[in-house]
Amino acid sequence: MGQLATLFEPDRIAVVGATDREGSVGRAITANLLADFEGDVVAVNPTKDEVLGLESYDSVVDVPDVDVAVVVVPPSIVIDAIREAGEAGVRDVVVITAGFGESGSEGASRERELRELAGEFDLNLVGPNSLGIMNTDVGMNATFGPESARPGSISFMSQSGAFVTAVVDWANDRNLGFHNVVSLGNKAVLDESDFVAEWGDDPDTDVILGYLEDVVDGRSFVESAREVSADTPIVVVKSGRTEAGASAAASHTGAIAGSEAAYEAALDQAGVLRVETVQDLFDFGSILAGQPLPERDGVAIVTNAGGPGVMTTDAVGDSGLSLASFTDETIEAFQEALPQEANVYNPVDIIGDAPVERFEEALDVALADPNVGAAVVVACPTATLSYEALAEAVVDLQDEYEMPVAATLMGGSSTRAANDTLSAGGIPTYFDPARAVRSLDALREYREISRREYAEPETFDVDREAAREILESAGRRDTNRLGVEAMGLLDAYGIPTPAAEIVDSRSKAVDVAERVGDGGEVVMKIVSPDILHKSDIGGVAVGVPPEEVGDTYEDLVTRARNYQPDATILGVQVQEMLDMDGAVETIAGMNRDPQFGPLVLFGLGGIFVEVLEDTTVRVAPVSEPSARDMLNEIDAAPLLRGARGRDPVDEAAVVETIQRLSQLVTDFPAIVELDINPLVATADGVQAVDVRLTIDQEEL
Ligand code: ADP
Ligand code: MG
Repeated sequence: MGQLATLFEPDRIAVVGATDREGSVGRAITANLLADFEGDVVAVNPTKDEVLGLESYDSVVDVPDVDVAVVVVPPSIVIDAIREAGEAGVRDVVVITAGFGESGSEGASRERELRELAGEFDLNLVGPNSLGIMNTDVGMNATFGPESARPGSISFMSQSGAFVTAVVDWANDRNLGFHNVVSLGNKAVLDESDFVAEWGDDPDTDVILGYLEDVVDGRSFVESAREVSADTPIVVVKSGRTEAGASAAASHTGAIAGSEAAYEAALDQAGVLRVETVQDLFDFGSILAGQPLPERDGVAIVTNAGGPGVMTTDAVGDSGLSLASFTDETIEAFQEALPQEANVYNPVDIIGDAPVERFEEALDVALADPNVGAAVVVACPTATLSYEALAEAVVDLQDEYEMPVAATLMGGSSTRAANDTLSAGGIPTYFDPARAVRSLDALREYREISRREYAEPETFDVDREAAREILESAGRRDTNRLGVEAMGLLDAYGIPTPAAEIVDSRSKAVDVAERVGDGGEVVMKIVSPDILHKSDIGGVAVGVPPEEVGDTYEDLVTRARNYQPDATILGVQVQEMLDMDGAVETIAGMNRDPQFGPLVLFGLGGIFVEVLEDTTVRVAPVSEPSARDMLNEIDAAPLLRGARGRDPVDEAAVVETIQRLSQLVTDFPAIVELDINPLVATADGVQAVDVRLTIDQEEL
């Protein structure tokens, strides 16, 4: 283990604020520790001589060699108690006491003090407002929950303490065990990134589960989770997905949640399996802890019941797995082993009168097929079948083949003993076949994550100074909004733009049009920081012939004035007209998330972007493979690849633009928002014909 080794495996724990008062938190923690903890438990409480049979000390200073202090004193004396512990050399502290950041301004300032103190003494501090922590390996239950977890290989962190107690209670009923359990509380010091990193290094943790309402430091979470998830699966429920949920979470722990899109992208980039329900969290957790990863996507279904077999087949169809097609040898083996009426193709229906031997034989044949990567055994209770015997057979065969197997034993009390056998063998069992398949699919998904190759983002040779100059000149104009007058920003970062110039008179417009249009048609656009969507007010004229350039200039300015008399008008942009035949209008953009920093967006662009909403995002910096995935992810991807006989666009140019944009917005924190819409993509490359951005003057 790493930095938190002592926190989880102390020799001596002091309960600061230990008491024997019935119904108190201090008593519950002391009693929980006394129950099974292999190390020493020490009570600290100056108002007591003895607590639950322990001598009570006046101060933690009076006790030598305390490794962990669990602090349960009232909020007003927490800081003093922790300072004493720090001075006594304690480096690991669990703060149970509430009344900090979650409760008004006094609490918030107390939490700041706590953080400073932790910095001063270099404390590993859990909480405040935490239910506590557990390590089943050493029998340590330093929580005030009613039950201790059973031993297992899942480590679980939760931003809700109440949820921890519920989960432990529920898991104990299901033979689901934990290695470490942490109630994160307000995460004043240690947060999800620290525990992910710690458990990633812990050989006793096979799976990391998290219930999170927010992520404290988005960047560091993505980094530590990405490293860890290559070897240890991480499954997270991130609540507050909906707007209502997010504001409920904010009032719950005082969390500032980033945008949902940012979480989705970030968790995915971090290799975290994100689930929406608590059921999936523990379904996925237990199968990842108990079963090997499938080497192939083909699933064999073995059942004694037609209907449930079909349900299972549908569930496979809805998943990333596929129904395995059996080899001829397998079919022959089934034909030999099974009665005539049986279905020897997948799903294998071994008929309602099947005894356990038939199940055993069929599963044996199925698992031996080279196209099969996983199996689901689906059974309904019959007079000819013993669920207990079936469970034993399934456990044995899974063990023999070392392939993932899930079971669906339908029924009520008749399944209980069998389910115990299965779960003791690490095989998840469910009533609903869809859950069995979803869990197997989680194994596949994690297999993909574990095989991911991480590519460093590329750094292009760019003209950073020129870009800075453009941003600063906007700062001097005292505006936060920039439009096509800032096209130079894209040029500086090597993103192609058509020839263009901004003019402030009719005659200059005519001159410039002659040059950029090469005697042909041009595009003219009003340039004003106050007009966001130029086309909406008739501020874009496409295909203007040379003889109309002068009038169009006047016309555009008049329209802008009529639309908004006090608008600042910087002039009119005269732009080279692109051949839009066979072109696809895409959008490349960015907005800055409070938790994760710049989010880069790519999608189908043009003036209908808001209507179509066909976009995808990544947390910057975006690497080449990741930019390529973005391109493949949008629904309109076939358009880019040349649907209906069109030429495919220059994908490499699109991919490079996404990366260059990622570099630009990473280099300049002053850019709060930026859209290149459209980024026109053709077979010959890309051209950014429009840009708009918002800057934060203070970051310049
Ligand atoms: P806005 O988004 O403010 O309305 P744009 O500059 O994006 O203004 O122009 C609107 C539309 O006009 C684009 O989506 C594109 O279809 C077309 N257009 C703009 N510039 C050009 C150009 N240089 N060549 C061809 N078509 C263009
Ligand atoms: Mg536009």
